[in-house]
Amino acid sequence: MKIHEYQAKELFATYGIPVDRSIVCRSVEDAVKAYSQLDSQKVIVKAQVHTGGRGKAGGVKLANGEVELRKHAAAILGMDIKGFIVDRILVGQAINIEKEYYVSYVVDRKSKSTILMLSKEGGMDIEEVARTSPEKIHRFVIDPSIGVPDYLAREAAFKLFDDIKQVRQAAVIFQKLYKLFVATDASLAEINPLVLTKEGDIMAIDAKMTFDDNALFRHPKIAALNEPTEEEKKEQNAKSKGFSYVNLGGEIGCMVNGAGLAMATMDMIKLYGGNPANFLDIGGSSNPTKVIEAMKLLLSDQNVKVVMINIFGGITRCDDVAKGLLEAFKQFKTDIPVVIRLTGTNEKEGRAMLQGSGLYVAETMGEATEKAVSLT
Ligand code: GDP
Ligand code: MN
Repeated sequence: MKIHEYQAKELFATYGIPVDRSIVCRSVEDAVKAYSQLDSQKVIVKAQVHTGGRGKAGGVKLANGEVELRKHAAAILGMDIKGFIVDRILVGQAINIEKEYYVSYVVDRKSKSTILMLSKEGGMDIEEVARTSPEKIHRFVIDPSIGVPDYLAREAAFKLFDDIKQVRQAAVIFQKLYKLFVATDASLAEINPLVLTKEGDIMAIDAKMTFDDNALFRHPKIAALNEPTEEEKKEQNAKSKGFSYVNLGGEIGCMVNGAGLAMATMDMIKLYGGNPANFLDIGGSSNPTKVIEAMKLLLSDQNVKVVMINIFGGITRCDDVAKGLLEAFKQFKTDIPVVIRLTGTNEKEGRAMLQGSGLYVAETMGEATEKAVSLT
């Protein structure tokens, strides 16, 4: 789960990590009020959206005076950044930046640990730095039983700073950020950029955190900050009905019993030159209400042109499945063509029952997939 910069900065502040003074605003009027409270001629106006690269997209602007502030606030509010519409901006005291750095803690699969990542190439896209000059990124593997002791924090800080005063300030920030990372079950805590100000102080002027969804039950205050996207809402809704659903953006809606078969179905669709609209595992039963719910879910996706149902009757009998499907399609009418592949126990009886129902019936996966792709 992601949170906004202003929310992450509140967490940073709670843990004593220095951040710039800033106020979140939902309107130009709010921004003007914030401006008077911040008591700074220059302020920075930043879009609050769940995506990075806001600066490049025009979502971060420096304003010198109230007139410019109004102009930038009006331009950024309502802006579309990578599909996210800006409904909040953060107005912050502008910082005189001497130099920008990159710092993050992230769960690293390769070392099976949390790692501390650092770079002098701050403010830039870190994936870009990793690609073009990987030697500029420093990594420290953190042993969870030891954490980040003083010597390690200082060793890390020396990778970025030469001045001992700055090293000490940075080391403390690294330790506090680690504490926050662990205490909140985060999967990422990133400061990009951490800045050295012209006055010689070190502070975070951007803050990004993501949390492990599986641990959210331990953090109700963080869980309350969740703002799911339309897609995520759909996936959560599906989950509450006992389905595993993931939207994939293609045009063939898939309804399958079993995760392995669902994966194989998507592979087959790709093999025949089509694109799956989703992954959907409806589990083992042939219950008509379940089929109706699943159909509603699939057809709520405007991209879906064909539905492909792939059922293997192992414990469930194919004639039972066919009965369930017939019952479901009696109650649920649609113009979207539906292809059904049904094999397993009592398959002949099952397929025979579906003949003449208007559904395309297939015996093999190849046959069903070919039909579904040709219907798109
Ligand atoms: P991101 O593009 O979404 O990562 O947004 P950031 O918050 O990291 O801002 C992008 C860039 O804007 C930073 O790398 C800085 O160069 C610049 N910036 C942000 N805040 C300030 C500020 O207070 N003063 C100045 N001069 N520049 C800032
Ligand atoms: Mn940033």
